[in-house]
Amino acid sequence: MKTIGLIGGMSWESTAHYYRILNEEAAARLGGLHSAPLLIHSLDFAPIAALQAEGKWDEAGALLNGSARRLVVAGAEVIGLATNTMHLVADTMMADVDAPLVHIGDPTADALLEDGHEIVGLLGTRFTMEMGFYRERLEARGLTVLIPEVDRTNLNGIIYEELCRGIIRDESRKIYVDAISRLAARGATAVILGCTEIGMLIDDSVSPLPTYDTTDLHARALVGAALA
Ligand code: GLU
Repeated sequence: MKTIGLIGGMSWESTAHYYRILNEEAAARLGGLHSAPLLIHSLDFAPIAALQAEGKWDEAGALLNGSARRLVVAGAEVIGLATNTMHLVADTMMADVDAPLVHIGDPTADALLEDGHEIVGLLGTRFTMEMGFYRERLEARGLTVLIPEVDRTNLNGIIYEELCRGIIRDESRKIYVDAISRLAARGATAVILGCTEIGMLIDDSVSPLPTYDTTDLHARALVGAALA
């Protein structure tokens, strides 16, 4: 199995989930005492969140490029970026990096298409919902992607103010469930948890639509790529 290089810390709460899923998936596929050969570069999220808020995407991309290069030097053979939002700078991040990136949108689209979905809702940060880079990648695969028409500020705030800090509130869960209900009313048959922390708040037991958790799908796809 190849060594996976994971760029995490955005936030560390979701990177902790990646660590568990990567190892569980390696054990499930290989059996016995197998676990995932893995390097994690976990970044301090505060300066990155500040760059996002200031729209300094080039700077953020350069920072992640440094991280990807360091992982390859350290032995990583497959790269994963443990956040949906920062895939906005995936091209800059991967410039002159001698290892393939497993893009978080790809296993998500694969799973949705495999299950026969055509119209899907997307929840995530404002950047992921509004800036197009993520939606367009899914739409290129033939999916119709709906984002919430209302409450995007609240949905975004819950990610940064609560989930990235490990805070789980029932009131916030209700805001997400209501958003999913509205997406269902507009024709979505599934919802993408397009932020790696949303799975801490929402799962199939509370969601009005079947959920596609990008953290879970991405981590499993990384193991698949490392075994290919
Ligand atoms: N982890 C989140 C995501 O998947 C949000 C944090 C970030 O902005 O990177 O988009």
